[in-house]
Amino acid sequence: MVRTAADTAATTDFFALHLCNLHLSVTEMNKSPDAQRMEKIVSLCKRRGFIFQSSEIYGGLSGCWDYGPLGVELKRNVKNYWWRVIVHERDDVVGMDGAILTHPEVLKASGHVEGFSDPMVDCRTCKARLRADQVIEKKSGRQCPNCGGRDLTEARPFNLMFQTQMGAAANESSIVYLRPETAQSIFVQFKNILEVSRKKLPFGIAQIGKAFRNEINPRNFTFRSREFEQMELEYFCRAEEGMKLLDYWLGERLKFYENIGIGRDGLHVKTVSDEERAFYSKGTYDIEFDFPFGRQELEGVAYRTDYDLLQHQKASGKSLDYFDEETKQRFVPHVVEPSAGVDRAVLALICEAYSEDEAPDEKGKMETRIVLRFHPRMAPIKCAVFPLLKNKEHLVAKAKEIVDLLRPHMNVFYDESGAIGRRYRRQDEIGTPFGVTVDFETLGEKDAALRDTVTLRDRDSMKQERILVKDLPGILVSRIT
Ligand code: ATP
Repeated sequence: MVRTAADTAATTDFFALHLCNLHLSVTEMNKSPDAQRMEKIVSLCKRRGFIFQSSEIYGGLSGCWDYGPLGVELKRNVKNYWWRVIVHERDDVVGMDGAILTHPEVLKASGHVEGFSDPMVDCRTCKARLRADQVIEKKSGRQCPNCGGRDLTEARPFNLMFQTQMGAAANESSIVYLRPETAQSIFVQFKNILEVSRKKLPFGIAQIGKAFRNEINPRNFTFRSREFEQMELEYFCRAEEGMKLLDYWLGERLKFYENIGIGRDGLHVKTVSDEERAFYSKGTYDIEFDFPFGRQELEGVAYRTDYDLLQHQKASGKSLDYFDEETKQRFVPHVVEPSAGVDRAVLALICEAYSEDEAPDEKGKMETRIVLRFHPRMAPIKCAVFPLLKNKEHLVAKAKEIVDLLRPHMNVFYDESGAIGRRYRRQDEIGTPFGVTVDFETLGEKDAALRDTVTLRDRDSMKQERILVKDLPGILVSRIT
């Protein structure tokens, strides 16, 4: 991967900020088609309200992003689908929602206080803070990737956790952390959830929520952020089931990405080597995606053995074991963990969906069309409804009736302004898979047989079919679920 060099200085210009974040990648890639594609994606995200720089009017807060009206819908669709397949469609998984503020003992026991750090190097010339792996190693010595300077500090560990104080007294004993992953609250609540859910092994506990890491160099748009969301499942099992379940969950997770519209060709499975793997893990896979800025991790699937529960059992002095009624044995379960990033999944969906093709304009002349080819299941808006003309009362009334008919089933958008071709184009650009147009045929003015029919336009093929209004909810629901 091409890593950018310096933490970007705040700037009031959103594009400058984004393009700065991408700056080194862009120059190093010499404005390759991939770099240009990424620029277009970042710009579309701002222009159409998917993703904004956080605190933009104050110059931006590096590594933090706000999702706009369309981004929030896309993000919810990802999370809801994950929850649906991981929790609702299974008998062996329950959910939870833990606190973000975390007791320091939890993170001491998990190893985060001591060991959750990246090696950091400072450039004394340009003052850039660099992850050690960003430093250019040359025969002649180490070099800053930002300014080329050679006056670099030795690498030292930089803890990635955000800490804050709880309560009025600000001292050692009031330190709490913003969780760096959602998993630890699952381990800490293992016993409570086991008791209330009365599940038998193997079973899982799932959680979606915010996590915080003080990344040295947030970069590549939302890919490496300081505040982000995770979707994590801890699937508890017997020791002898661990390796088999690791492969099972890898398969399930690959299916998930395919079902939200990421083609199998763009997904890659990396078997994490013994040297790279956490010492307690007996097997780890990374699911990677071909982003325009390189092949990068979307999700980790790891067999973590009984390490986490044992650590918390030891540190808290509370038993975190499981009683097997059949064998009458007590033991601490092992765990397999598929851990996915919501923001990375959203970014992958946008990158995968972005495309340009040719379509005729109002006068029949071919022009470039930007289309987000989201899977209908993920699209922020499922269907747009258009009256052919906005100054014809009956057309408008009928279109609004159709909006009311569809609204209980899906997110619908009503648009009456501008030529119909332009309205289609605006929806194509945000990935709305279906467009319904109410015309004079709908009112039965030209042919009585066509009364109460509309045209249903498909975003990708741009083909139109004439269908009965009453059939619309059924047809559309079958295509978006
Ligand atoms: P990386 O190697 O990219 O830093 P990681 O291996 O540290 O990631 P995990 O600790 O396994 O990541 O976290 C699980 C998932 O959480 C990752 O696969 C990713 O999708 C997401 N994630 C982790 N760090 C970030 C981040 N800084 N910004 C956005 N998502 C993140």
